Amino acid sequence: MNITGKTIQLGVIGNPISHSISPQLHNTMAEKMGLDYTYSAYRVRRGEVAKALDGMRALNIRGFNVTIPHKVTAHDLCDELDPFAKKMGACNTLVNNDGVIKGYNTDGPGFIRSLLHKGVSVKDKFVIVLGAGGAAQGVCMAMADAGARMIGIINRTYEKAEKLAERINKYYPSVAHACNGFVDADIVVNTTSVGMNTNEMPADVDFESLKKETVVCDIVYCPRETAFLKKASEAGLKTVGGIGMLINQAVIAFELFTNTKVDETVVDYLYRMTELEKSIVLTGFMGTGKTSIGKRLCSLTGAQFIDTDSLIEEKMGMSIPDIFSKYGESCFRDVESEVIKSLAGYKGAVISTGGGAVLRRENIDTLRENGAVIFCLKADIERVFKNIGTNTESRPLLNGKTMDEARALLESRCEAYANCDEEIDVTDCEKEQSADKILELYMGRD
Ligand code: NAP
Repeated sequence: MNITGKTIQLGVIGNPISHSISPQLHNTMAEKMGLDYTYSAYRVRRGEVAKALDGMRALNIRGFNVTIPHKVTAHDLCDELDPFAKKMGACNTLVNNDGVIKGYNTDGPGFIRSLLHKGVSVKDKFVIVLGAGGAAQGVCMAMADAGARMIGIINRTYEKAEKLAERINKYYPSVAHACNGFVDADIVVNTTSVGMNTNEMPADVDFESLKKETVVCDIVYCPRETAFLKKASEAGLKTVGGIGMLINQAVIAFELFTNTKVDETVVDYLYRMTELEKSIVLTGFMGTGKTSIGKRLCSLTGAQFIDTDSLIEEKMGMSIPDIFSKYGESCFRDVESEVIKSLAGYKGAVISTGGGAVLRRENIDTLRENGAVIFCLKADIERVFKNIGTNTESRPLLNGKTMDEARALLESRCEAYANCDEEIDVTDCEKEQSADKILELYMGRD
């Protein structure tokens, strides 16, 4: 990225904000489209949105995205409003036209585009929406706007479903109603927060009883395939995951900021970068930075981070040094293999394994069968010791070892490490550079 005095500034405001993948999405679009824009994340506290908007005017920042908890406040402070944002009463996109700030809402339209991207139209469809929170409002309003025939809203708190239906019907008369059943739905959408990083289902749905053409969607995107989507898919139904909504709300916002149309090839690139249809597995010797590089990769892609050592500790109810001292390495390896098997079918994750996980060929085969790409992190033993410092107690195989003994252990594993898909030398790299390199290699693979 070559930032000059002419580079146009964009950003996202919210609190918290450090987890946001918007900078990665927008900077990738700018780079791939060859446009001279740069996008940053700004933490803005409650009560400081007006100051942020003044700053936007004063610094001539072209556009802001707005996220939790400022969407309603931003709507109230805009100089002008797009009609859809007005109906929503909330804005997630602000465009600064020479000091005049116009507010938009691209969340719901992003959901509609994510359906179109998968060949699904909502025109004349009967849709069932689970949930009646902020996201449900965007999804329902956009579906009504896109010509849905009827929208049934199911929510744990029934009165909220009724209130949401009323709000939708104010602009699209008689389209929405609160309900309890799924019968005859063409499209079912989960907009509740249930399923986020868990295997829970938002409702007890008998997918087998739905029409075989029913499309099932989830706007929860971590994991990429939620339990809700998995069950629907097992019943033979078409599914659409939540990452598409996140991508497309950004695409529409970027188009508003830049007055351009984002190329489909660029949109496809964003999907590949964030869907991670093939999970990224990081392995390699202790102290090569699997956890920190893995977490950095998650902040670039929005993927879920899974650490097999933590899963082993959870399963055994004790720390890794305790497993080693009580049951020995071979028992640890057996549990490790079981944990790796349990990750079968996981999509869209960055999985960090222990350094010895790939010593068993069966583990590599299991990971590959699940479509993962296995990256082995390599570093010389001096760097490993520098990274670990004096903290060798939590690493039973290094504890009390001299550098020469550790080097011998590392060398004994080289053959197994060579079976991985890609080797990355991280000896002279910071975690940011290593993560960028891995993502680049991942994107360059077929
Ligand atoms: P929200 O305003 O807090 O609404 C949460 C909804 O979930 C409510 O309808 C709530 O029901 C329901 N709910 C919560 N816990 C439940 C439970 N245990 N059982 C049944 N229902 C439950 O949240 P939101 O802003 O709408 O966000 C909802 C989800 O959408 C979040 O996971 C968020 O990450 C995701 N999202 C994704 C995107 C995307 O781009 N893909 C965009 C926005 C949001 P009650 O009314 O009964 O409390």
